[in-house]
Amino acid sequence: MKELLPYNKVAVRLETKVENVTGTTVNVTEKNGTAAEITGDSVICALGYRPNNPFVKLLNTSAKETYLLGDSRHVANIMQAIWDAYAVAKAI
Ligand SMILES: Cc1cc2nc3c(=O)[nH]c(=O)nc-3n(C[C@H](O)[C@H](O)[C@H](O)COP(=O)(O)OP(=O)(O)OC[C@H]3O[C@@H](n4cnc5c(N)ncnc54)[C@H](O)[C@@H]3O)c2cc1C
Repeated sequence: MKELLPYNKVAVRLETKVENVTGTTVNVTEKNGTAAEITGDSVICALGYRPNNPFVKLLNTSAKETYLLGDSRHVANIMQAIWDAYAVAKAI
């Protein structure tokens, strides 16, 4: 991917904050505080994920044993979620 982007002359903006998206226009603020507008044919979000497990504390107090696995423990892939489940099933 790192080689394909420059090869296809894709402009990469680092440390740039997306302010809002209107249709196919993205308004951003550059690192130096400059506002800029990027217009394209499509807007595709390819963002990372973080675990979000608000029920763990609640379950910990009401259930005898609680296990966190899969993306709720550590965002990864299906294989990791299956391995997590396997490890828990083997341990209990
Ligand atoms: C767009 C995308 C593409 C992906 N492509 C791949 C791929 O090609 N290969 C790969 O290996 N991995 C891929 N992944 C990652 C993979 O989907 C996850 O790592 C995997 O699904 C994690 O499994 P999980 O059981 O932990 O969570 P999930 O599969 O997310 O299961 C959690 C379940 O809990 C339910 N849930 C959430 N909150 C509540 C609630 N309050 N009450 C009741 N139910 C609730 C959800 O509806 C969901 O059904 C992809 C992920 C995304 C987002």
